[in-house]
Amino acid sequence: NNIQELIHLDKKHFIHPTSSIAQQQANGPSAIFTEGKGIYLKDIQGHSYIDGMSSLWNVNVGHGRKELAEAAKEQMEKLAFSSCFSTFSHEPAIRLATKIASLAPRELNAVFFTSGGSEANDTAFKLARHYWLLKGKPNRQKIISRTKSYHGVAMGATSATGLKPFRDFTNSLAPDFYYVDGSSIEELRNVIEQEGAETLAAFITEPIQGAGGVNFAPPGYMQEVRRICDQYGILLITDEVITGFGRTGTFFGIEHDGVIPDMMCFAKGVTSGYAQLGGVVLSETLHQELISLSRETLFHGYTYSGHPMACAVALKNIEIIETEKLVENAKLRGVDLLSGFQEIQSKRNIIGHVRALGLIGAIQIVKNRQTGERFQTPVAPLIVAEAMKQGLICRAVTFDQDTVVFAPPLIITKQEIAELIGRLDKAVAAVEQVLQS
Ligand code: PLP
Repeated sequence: NNIQELIHLDKKHFIHPTSSIAQQQANGPSAIFTEGKGIYLKDIQGHSYIDGMSSLWNVNVGHGRKELAEAAKEQMEKLAFSSCFSTFSHEPAIRLATKIASLAPRELNAVFFTSGGSEANDTAFKLARHYWLLKGKPNRQKIISRTKSYHGVAMGATSATGLKPFRDFTNSLAPDFYYVDGSSIEELRNVIEQEGAETLAAFITEPIQGAGGVNFAPPGYMQEVRRICDQYGILLITDEVITGFGRTGTFFGIEHDGVIPDMMCFAKGVTSGYAQLGGVVLSETLHQELISLSRETLFHGYTYSGHPMACAVALKNIEIIETEKLVENAKLRGVDLLSGFQEIQSKRNIIGHVRALGLIGAIQIVKNRQTGERFQTPVAPLIVAEAMKQGLICRAVTFDQDTVVFAPPLIITKQEIAELIGRLDKAVAAVEQVLQS
């Protein structure tokens, strides 16, 4: 039948991104999704799941939004594609750049478009290095990032990614990338002193680390980073690919810290995943400096930089976020999510630290809550597998930790949070029972 055929063809022809390809080859896909509506996804066998991850932290306005399909159709019928290279332009890109500039923290004012987050980060690194070249400081090329960070898989983005398995995937990366402990300001200062500020181009950080396990920086960290960058003349890049567009209960994650970066990267939530789009917003100062120093072509641009359909979808998506007050909803429902985690924690011994800010959160799995000791083999994947059986999609993070992470769509209601928590509790209870037996 159709399902068997699809599984067979998937195994044979389809290399899944970020997957265990041997397992994939042996077992085939665990779910073939066919439809989405609101916070729910349906698979080919008719099972329904709460999409507790907004798929890849990106479907902010939820699944099945007809308005976005309409916006895409309308734009494609009118002008499916035209170039933004050099002097050419079109209205969707102009309007979207203007809209993003108006939403971004003050000072951030000019947008360079890409097709996703990896390209956005690569763009920021190249612009930073290019800027220093133009300033007559060609030695300023080093980029510092934090351990446990994830910045994507393009060559520059991989090189900046703190999670080692991504870097160890190949034996040669882009040069001049350095890493500091994710929470130690001391270590950042040490690396700057060791390497010499005159060799440093930029520091990049996620406001909250996503793929690394929903890790919050210590209080005051971002402000201190901004101070240090100013002191040594290093550009500060924030990676808002996950935290942008309402995820944390503010429009951009960095607003919680009141810090203004020199460049801010975005993707994912800008279109809620309905089209492929990302970009970098530059501060007015940096933008003006680039303009005044630049003598020739900016030799950087993707065919799909400012894709008309993607920009039209983004504009409609942002309109939905605003009119439905989804940033506010993320903030309110985030409180419910956290208290739901706490409720599970009070009942189940294997739940350690729980955390959430807006609709990004995590529960830590521990063997011993008092000491924080972990199980020898991570338990989070067992919970995720069990949750799937209960109709809940969530993600295990096992890089130096044993954590289950969540990022449900921003449209989620109080009732739906309760449903998510109910399913999660059943999954945790079932795994706890297996561990005890
Ligand atoms: N930066 C962050 C913080 C991300 O979470 C991701 C993707 O998960 C990326 C960058 C890479 O984005 P993309 O997968 O769109 O290239």
